[in-house]
Amino acid sequence: MIQVAFNQANHSDSFSVAAPPSLQSCACWLRYTAQLIYAKLRAEIAGGFTMRLGIVLIMIFMADGLALAQESRLPIIDMHFHTVAVDSQGPPPLGLCSPFREIPSSVSAESYPDQWLSLLKNPPCDDPVWSPTSDRELMAASLAMLDEYNIFGVASGPEHLVRAYEDAAPDRIIQALLLGGSAVAEPQSIDSLRILHDEGRLEVIGELTTQYAGISPDDERLEPLWALAEELDLPVGIHIGTGPPGVAYLGASGYRARLHSALTLEEVLIRHPSLRIYISHAGWPMLEDLLALLWAHPQVYMDVAAINWALPTPEFHSYLQRIVEAGFGSRVMYGSDQMVWPGMIPKSIAAVRDAPFLDEAQKRDILYNNAARFLRLSEEEIATHHGK
Ligand SMILES: [Zn+2]
Repeated sequence: MIQVAFNQANHSDSFSVAAPPSLQSCACWLRYTAQLIYAKLRAEIAGGFTMRLGIVLIMIFMADGLALAQESRLPIIDMHFHTVAVDSQGPPPLGLCSPFREIPSSVSAESYPDQWLSLLKNPPCDDPVWSPTSDRELMAASLAMLDEYNIFGVASGPEHLVRAYEDAAPDRIIQALLLGGSAVAEPQSIDSLRILHDEGRLEVIGELTTQYAGISPDDERLEPLWALAEELDLPVGIHIGTGPPGVAYLGASGYRARLHSALTLEEVLIRHPSLRIYISHAGWPMLEDLLALLWAHPQVYMDVAAINWALPTPEFHSYLQRIVEAGFGSRVMYGSDQMVWPGMIPKSIAAVRDAPFLDEAQKRDILYNNAARFLRLSEEEIATHHGK
């Protein structure tokens, strides 16, 4: 989750999310092409061996297309899907270039907010992903992405929006809650979380965005929250890693770069050894700290949300490759960090599917299997996700 604080503007009626490429339609295109070739062969060849050979080749071609379609329908778990207001990142529509080609720089922190907003209003690329301009359109476009890519999403946002998404797509939404600031662990909040859990409306705590307030995970103010999560055996996702570049000057004045370190979690893990926790954004870019934590604490998982569409692709792949080659591939989970840009979902999936150092089994682990194990999905749930 990226947290910024711009003044909210009135919405307009236009709706301009960049159309995502569809793997499924790609497979249909293959089948269509095969049919054309078949028709042409039939017209030009009068029976005999040549025609039979042609038919065999076409059947192989069509089978490839079908396999691609089936691959594109294999389920995905998005551990980091947000249900937020369309103006939560600034006045819509906002355009983002993905991945960033250059990280924004400025000679004056004072003027940086204007420069950042200008970047989102005039994105410096030919193919920006635009946000919708109303909450209704954002929800429709986001849920359409879940359907198209067969995604089951751990959905966090304000409670009323999590409810709205859950009502609209109960089979695709895993209910979470977006929580930030020190107030998340005050008695009233703890009581509310317990009630939500008891009512079956809270399956994951998070995303916890306390880093934006400069609160380290091992800050004693968060202790009641860790105790509750451990007691209820609720998974927790906590933001440790990147927000928008320069976010300390975009309203999150407590944000500190040193809190990108996964090691900030260590004392919490020692105090709560049964805690099920995953690091959102994988602690980028503090790789050595992350690897040390993963080595020392086998219960820690991570998602690769946002870094898979925001970072220049070579940097994301290099980071992911180091994690996998160090032996921690079974703890990496896919996440989109979809906020107000549904078009980032296909880009973030492609960043995993296109990683040249991953084999197909490793990609399936990252896109589904690792999260299913972390969330302790039942065999029935996994079978349902696979359409069985
Ligand atoms: Zn986040």
